[in-house]
Amino acid sequence: MRVLLIEDDAMIGANLARALEGVGWSVDWVKDGVLASSAWLDGDYSCVLLDLGLPRDDGIQVLRKARARGDATPVLILTARDSVEERIQGLDTGADDYLLKPFDFQEVLARMRAIMRRSHGAADSLIGTKEIQLDMGTREVIFHGRREQLTAREYALMYALLERPGAILSREQLENRIYGWGEEVISNAVDVLIHGMRRKLGNECISNVRGLGWRVRAL
Ligand code: CA
Repeated sequence: MRVLLIEDDAMIGANLARALEGVGWSVDWVKDGVLASSAWLDGDYSCVLLDLGLPRDDGIQVLRKARARGDATPVLILTARDSVEERIQGLDTGADDYLLKPFDFQEVLARMRAIMRRSHGAADSLIGTKEIQLDMGTREVIFHGRREQLTAREYALMYALLERPGAILSREQLENRIYGWGEEVISNAVDVLIHGMRRKLGNECISNVRGLGWRVRAL
């Protein structure tokens, strides 16, 4: 899973990036509003963490641009305690939730999970289809009722596929969703991951669409 971290504070940004990577996120970190907008436009993110006070464009402007072009990526605002009006403006501009600095990292994760599952219309921590689901709370996959623990990469793979069941994702799209900027990706990394998932769950858990990519059946 890939997150866009928009934060100009070097210490907060570095700590967040390290902590997120530690739990399996691929993190693209940008430190000003203009870079943020171009990264957001190019990337395919599961979630955006948005600081409001930023150099060049501020966070509200970045958010407004994204929402104006119809981008519905879940957004969590991270902001200082004294900026009530900014927070309200952020929510009105289309942010999904906010968190006050200083924050607890576990709460950041919990709020990210909450806004991500709401974006899938799920009331609990499960996303997916009748046949196969992902438990965002425990990082398990449930296939035909059987639960299996996933590695961070496997989880990122399944999240990408289950965000839009039935949609075909190419190798490049999957790589973008699973790996962050500057991460070395071996050429058959996606195949190795899919092979591992099939060994865990059985061949039919992910289907291959010849020449196009992979998908999970929308049931
Ligand atoms: Ca700031």
